[in-house]
Amino acid sequence: MPEMPEVQGLVDFLGERLAGVRIERATVANIAALKTYDPPIEALKGVEITGATRRGKFVDLSTTGPHLVFHLAKAGWLRWYDALPQTLIRPGKTPIALRVALSDGAGFDLTEAGTKKSLAYYVVRDPADVPGIARLGPDPLDPSFTRDDFAALLAGRRTQIKGVLRDQSIIAGVGNAYSDEILHAAKMSPYALASSLSDDDVTRLFEAMTETLRDAVAAASGKPPADLKDAKRRGMQVHGRRGEACPVCGDEVRSVFFADNSLEYCPTCQTGGKILADRRLSRLLK
Ligand SMILES: [Zn+2]
Repeated sequence: MPEMPEVQGLVDFLGERLAGVRIERATVANIAALKTYDPPIEALKGVEITGATRRGKFVDLSTTGPHLVFHLAKAGWLRWYDALPQTLIRPGKTPIALRVALSDGAGFDLTEAGTKKSLAYYVVRDPADVPGIARLGPDPLDPSFTRDDFAALLAGRRTQIKGVLRDQSIIAGVGNAYSDEILHAAKMSPYALASSLSDDDVTRLFEAMTETLRDAVAAASGKPPADLKDAKRRGMQVHGRRGEACPVCGDEVRSVFFADNSLEYCPTCQTGGKILADRRLSRLLK
C-alpha cells in the first residue's frame, strides 16, 4: 500500500511529466471505482494538466477544468506508459480501473490487484469535495507543523499510538507500514496509549516521525512509478520483516496479526523484551 512517501514520489513524477500536457481521453474501466458523477468524467477531455499535489495519501491532478483525484488504497497502483498501448480495455476483465490517454502519446492506468477493491477516483471542482480530503488532519511534513501541534493532537486520546498515527483525520499520510517504522525508530510500543506519553516521549516520537518520513520521501523522489514499491520495501527496518534480525539490536522482529493485516515490531527496542499477544488468538480465547 502506497503511503505518503510513495505518493509524494508519484506526485513529483507526475508533476514534472504532465505539466502542460492535455488529457486526450479518460476511459472508465471500473465504474465502481469512480466515486463522483458531477462533473462527468467527459469533462476531463481536452483539459490541460496544470499541477500535481499530494493531499495525505491522495493524488490531486489540477487541470484547466475539473480536478482528477485518486486514492490507490490497499492494492492500487499507477502504471505509466511513455507510449500508451492501443489495446482495447474490457471492463470487468482487467485490473485497470481508469486509463488516461495524454496529448503527447503517453498515458497511465490506475490498476488494482487483489480482490478487495478499494481504489477510488473522483472528478471534482474542488479537491475539498472529496470527503477523505476534507477530513484530513495536518500533514506531518508541513513546515508549519510543530512538536507542540503534535502534542496537542495526542493529548487526551486514550487510544493506542499505532492507531492514532494511522488515523488520517488526526495525521495525514501515515499508514500501517510507516507507523511500524516510526514506532521502531522512536523505541515505542505500538500499544502505548497516546494520552499517557510523557513530554520526552512525544518529542522522541515527533522526531522519529518527521525523520522517518523525510528520509523515505527523499528515497522516493525522482524514482519512476515502477520503482517506488521496491524502494519502499528496501527502506523498511521492521515492517514486513517478521523473523529477520532487527538492524538496531539484532533481536528477532515479531508480528502481531489482525483480521486483515499485521504489525511488526522489535521486542528489545520497543517493548522491553515483552512479546505482544497475537490478537487473532486472544480474541478466540475471550
Ligand atoms: Zn531492535
